[in-house]
Amino acid sequence: MTLSIPFDNSYARLPAAFYSKQAPEPVRAPRLVAFNEDLARVLRIAPGDVEEMAQAFAGNAVPPGAEPLAQLYSGHQFGHYNPQLGDGRAILLGEVVGSDGIRRDIQLKGSGRTPYSRAGDGRAWLGPVLREYVVSEAMHALGIPTTRALAAVETGEVVMREAPLPGAVLTRVAQSHLRVGTFQVFAARGDVASLKRLTEYAIDRHYPQAEGPMGLLRAVRDAQARLIPQWMSVGFIHGVMNTDNCAISGETIDYGPCAFMDVYHPNTVFSSIDRGGRYAYANQPEIAVWNLAQLATALIQQVDDKEAAVEEATAIVHAMPELMQEHWLRLFRAKIGLARAEEGDLQLISDLLTRMAHNQADFTNTFRALGGGKARDQFTDPAAYDTWAEGWQARCAREEDPMAVMRQANPAFIPRNHRVEQMIEAAVQGDYGPFQRLNAALARPFDDQPENADLARPPEQHEVVHATFCG
Ligand code: AMP
Ligand code: MG
Ligand code: MG
Repeated sequence: MTLSIPFDNSYARLPAAFYSKQAPEPVRAPRLVAFNEDLARVLRIAPGDVEEMAQAFAGNAVPPGAEPLAQLYSGHQFGHYNPQLGDGRAILLGEVVGSDGIRRDIQLKGSGRTPYSRAGDGRAWLGPVLREYVVSEAMHALGIPTTRALAAVETGEVVMREAPLPGAVLTRVAQSHLRVGTFQVFAARGDVASLKRLTEYAIDRHYPQAEGPMGLLRAVRDAQARLIPQWMSVGFIHGVMNTDNCAISGETIDYGPCAFMDVYHPNTVFSSIDRGGRYAYANQPEIAVWNLAQLATALIQQVDDKEAAVEEATAIVHAMPELMQEHWLRLFRAKIGLARAEEGDLQLISDLLTRMAHNQADFTNTFRALGGGKARDQFTDPAAYDTWAEGWQARCAREEDPMAVMRQANPAFIPRNHRVEQMIEAAVQGDYGPFQRLNAALARPFDDQPENADLARPPEQHEVVHATFCG
């Protein structure tokens, strides 16, 4: 068997200012630890033998047709503009057009230093690589737009973090790696020609029906306004919603210190670097609007009639909160079994969430249990549930099949932090059993899987993960 990847590259055709040609740095002893056959099939990749794939997905052997490069971008990190970021530890190998007609990037992450590495070592350790693999594939199975994981390789090298740790490389697949920050870098430099070229490229690749920079802005707004409520609906906290981690495609990207909540509280933060709680669970919609405003600011730089463009962009950005609220309401209605819309629904949902927050209710299991009539057990004071449920049941009486609606809307399985951590600990010891098991369970999040009931259980006191880290 010979690995074959049908590359069809477009980014490498863009002007040289967009990237630096850069081959991945070879590693000592690559070992393939995960390969996503289902995704490979969509990408029309013919798998090779294990050794060949280890070499390719470690960056030791650049496959035919690849044109490795590191992409340039900048971005606001925690609200502060950093004029130059770029792929500091990632290499775009190239693109493929899948059997679904969709063009996707194939990128190695953790593949060595690039001209954009700054003080970084260009590497990743096994923990974040497996975390991204599991969580991004779980998001996909939950029906949430996301980058995906094609392969993971252990490098056989040590990476220095808080301790010496095993190195790894993730092969990430994305509809593109264009970010808000890709636009910002050219806008900030006053490079209008590149900004125009990038805008055309993004429209061509993602939103062919969009017209001009403001059409692109509107399309990105719509995609992001759909995405963030989907995160909210599964208790997902991205953790680093910097503008360089905000994808133009509307996919979830950059799984660093992300996490799913166990106990519901709107102010929940996991990321060890998010000290001010800027990217707390409930702040995510507001941050998405802030990020879109940065995209608007960048896009306007190429428009001649700035006054008119500012007016149009402002209207586009200002409409985003309401759009998000509509999507949010539709998703949360479904979570309590409502397919129709009624006046008091928002109040009913908000009331439930408030009571959950006051009663240490597990986000995922409370919603899942609503359908089975067991949700009251999730509340420290079950009476708080009972008094809410009276109104809810009256409302459900005006629905056709609330149970069926809830089953589709409320997953039983999410990648719980403590399970992700336990999976990583085992893998570091060479045991990939928990990784395989977690992945398999999370591929069917809406199915009851009695044999995996332990994976749906919230953490015991001693298992609770309080902070997550970048890798
Ligand atoms: P992130 O917070 O993961 O979005 O990364 C922010 C920036 O830091 C990006 O330009 C990354 O490429 C870069 N970066 C993160 N980790 C490393 C690393 N270990 N070596 C080099 N660059 C890195
Ligand atoms: Mg990033
Ligand atoms: Mg990152």
